[in-house]
Amino acid sequence: MMKIAVIGSNMIDLVSYITRMPTKGETLEAPDFKMGCGGKGANQAIAASRLGADVLMLTRVGNDIFADNTIANFQANGISTDYVLRTNASSGVAPIFVDPLSHNSIIIVKGANSYLSASDIQSAAEDIKKCQLIVLQLEIPTETVYAAVQFGKEHNIPVLLNPAPAQPDLILDKVKSCEFIVPNETELSLLTGMPVETEDEIRNAAMTLRDAGVKNVIVTMGQRGVLWLSEKTQQYFPPLNVNAKDTTGAGDAFIGCFASMYCKSKDIAHSIEIANHYAADSVTRLGTQTSYLNKEDFLQQYP
Ligand code: ATP
Repeated sequence: MMKIAVIGSNMIDLVSYITRMPTKGETLEAPDFKMGCGGKGANQAIAASRLGADVLMLTRVGNDIFADNTIANFQANGISTDYVLRTNASSGVAPIFVDPLSHNSIIIVKGANSYLSASDIQSAAEDIKKCQLIVLQLEIPTETVYAAVQFGKEHNIPVLLNPAPAQPDLILDKVKSCEFIVPNETELSLLTGMPVETEDEIRNAAMTLRDAGVKNVIVTMGQRGVLWLSEKTQQYFPPLNVNAKDTTGAGDAFIGCFASMYCKSKDIAHSIEIANHYAADSVTRLGTQTSYLNKEDFLQQYP
């Protein structure tokens, strides 16, 4: 079975469905609210696990009821909680606002995620070494991300970095050994310091990342599709035409699916194509993890 190590965050999403964004000082009534398990690391782990991968999740939860919720959720999704570490802090939480046009605004309280450290990676080292891919995002300390990239390099395990949320102080030099960097346009712009308004600008910025040494740059562009650049190829994957209801977590759906498919087939183009479908499908339903299909249901739609 393909094994993936996700070293990253977990959060509890507190989602308010609003009619419009509140103005400064305004109290606004929202017609609907949902609580769900989220966090970029956890979302990507859950998507990969639902699609059949054996996922090792290295993360830190707090000492509160949110932590119990997160642990139960990992277990319900078949993810081992051996490396879900308790911390004397609050759990990570994310108040999210979604408007009727499915635009979202998100506040992140990192809580226990801020305590995930390089020594936590060392304590899970023997099991991470059994994995075929390490998947990282930027909701944990940047030093821990650098340590994980270094760990992958030392042990010859490919690393996929999703440089999200966009982080101005990320040092490209320290992550350029990644096999995959998967940014959206904003993250690509921050990483390269280049504009990304037009397709040509996006391609040029992606080329800059690739020329810095990143083997594969995969830019997710929301409803504009996906661009993949490697040393040998440049390929554009058009978007799927779907009725988008909530795009929160679409990037995580893409990455979890891509990781799972890539570990199975090692075919990058095929894995992007399937992930493009999986992420597009996820935006047709409300929520983040609740919008991710399991393998059987996805296969019915995309045999
Ligand atoms: P988030 O931070 O909310 O997870 P993101 O900005 O990281 O999102 P996007 O680039 O918006 O991620 O979306 C990821 C992928 O999801 C896209 O590359 C595409 O495959 C799919 N997707 C997102 N929105 C749409 C849409 N409206 N129609 C079709 N596919 C979509």
